[in-house]
Amino acid sequence: MEQFDLTAHRARIAPEATALEDLASGRVYSYGALNEQAARVAAAALEHWGLQPGDRLAYLGHSRAEFFALLFGCAKAGLILVPLNWRLAVPELEGLLEDARPGALLYTADFAEPVRTLQPQFADMVAVAMDSEQTSGGAIRPRRYAADLEAVTPDLQPHTPRDPDTPWYLLYTSGTTGRPKGVVQTFRMMLANFYSIGLSIEVRQSDVLLNVLPMFHTAGINLYSTCVLLVGGTVLVAPGFDPEQALRVLEERATLFFGVPAVYQALLDQPNLDGQRLQRVRSWGCGGAPLALPVAERFVEMGIRVRTGYGMTETGPGVFLLEESQVLDRLGSVGRPLLLAEVRVVNAAGEDLPAEEPGELWIRGPGVTPGYWQQPEVTRQAISEEGWLRTGDVACYDAEGYYRIVDRWKDMFISGGENIYPAEVERVLETHDAVSEVAVVGVPDERWGEVGRAFIVLANTRPAPQKAALQAWCRERLAGYKVPQHIDYVDALPRNALGKITKQELRR
Ligand code: ATP
Ligand code: MG
Repeated sequence: MEQFDLTAHRARIAPEATALEDLASGRVYSYGALNEQAARVAAAALEHWGLQPGDRLAYLGHSRAEFFALLFGCAKAGLILVPLNWRLAVPELEGLLEDARPGALLYTADFAEPVRTLQPQFADMVAVAMDSEQTSGGAIRPRRYAADLEAVTPDLQPHTPRDPDTPWYLLYTSGTTGRPKGVVQTFRMMLANFYSIGLSIEVRQSDVLLNVLPMFHTAGINLYSTCVLLVGGTVLVAPGFDPEQALRVLEERATLFFGVPAVYQALLDQPNLDGQRLQRVRSWGCGGAPLALPVAERFVEMGIRVRTGYGMTETGPGVFLLEESQVLDRLGSVGRPLLLAEVRVVNAAGEDLPAEEPGELWIRGPGVTPGYWQQPEVTRQAISEEGWLRTGDVACYDAEGYYRIVDRWKDMFISGGENIYPAEVERVLETHDAVSEVAVVGVPDERWGEVGRAFIVLANTRPAPQKAALQAWCRERLAGYKVPQHIDYVDALPRNALGKITKQELRR
């Protein structure tokens, strides 16, 4: 299928229906208004911000409903949107800008300072201030977003259909294992995600999605949001994750929700969490990192079945999402591959492995990215000629074809010749009452090569246990060589913007 103009067609079908609501400003966009706003972005970019089709347009700001006008505006004009991770430090942002080389940068009031610092190095990049109260962005006066959008005549008609593999936006990976990589995102990937995720959650026009995820991540854009917009439902955009606000919206308005594990953990800490009052939500999803079993179980006790999924920036993202009917019986599994995802589990020689044997997960299908932005060599290493993406994750499946994500290859370590997957050890420690959060890494050891070191955040409701007691807890449940030799109690674990634990920081 060609790349069609989603907002123009939705505006034709039901212009008055609500597409988006911004939970910070209260601003509501009907599909008609979204299409008009996207058309204005497209025209302003070409007429006022000096961009031409194929150029990049960067966005530095918190989540807001207007983001989708940028996304679909870029589709109309043939531009490539680059949402930047606002949690990055200036030198890191500099790296991303050098990689993507955007012709213009849109930024919100909160980010005037970093933009001022970055401007001298990117003198050709047009700075566009999105908020009217913003003062000068530095030596170079920024253009005004609202004024530029006001000044153009929007073309509300659908854009000319184009090749669905044309780069549409660039997303940088979460940077869990190293420097973020720019992953090309296409219209085909959005449609593939719709067939896989959208059909699995049976997304419908009456759905209201609460989106608390950042817009620089595939889970904030594709996963559920574009599925809802494709069918004409409503997306409520929160500026970030505020557990109190989220609970209120989940009780009163939302029918769909997707969160990363850190989000579910934070919801559990809410004193007024009450499963009875959350029955309006008909589908709960979680992915991006392993969801601790005790957390999933607490939700089950409340009558809430959280469907755990697996995906990557490189896969658009939907690959796995455990069916709701299986949540009780298969806690810890991500289910069977979704409609448009083909998967394999292979050994180092690329040979398929039988059930119950852990190996590298490979993925193929229309959801897989064409590649990393201007990195053909890295792309060739990651994606085979037959289209298989090497995920770098270890998975295994059972006799009935249900998959478990074991760990990342990079996190595996070898102790006395035995492979150890830290995630397995973490799962055992997580079930101990005194443990709130845990991360295990391999550290050098003279005798064994490497041994496990566990970093533990204690649950503050319990007295701190003796470390030997935790090791005994592991020894009862795991082979001896898997028991961490070192245990450190820490106040918090280092996490990135998606709440994923950054193990390279722990190893340092
Ligand atoms: P980087 O590639 O920069 O190191 P990242 O891999 O964390 O960062 P993303 O594309 O956001 O960037 O995340 C995809 C990864 O998240 C997967 O490859 C996998 O390791 C992990 N992941 C996703 N879902 C799950 C899950 N349900 N259980 C365990 N891990 C998961
Ligand atoms: Mg990755």
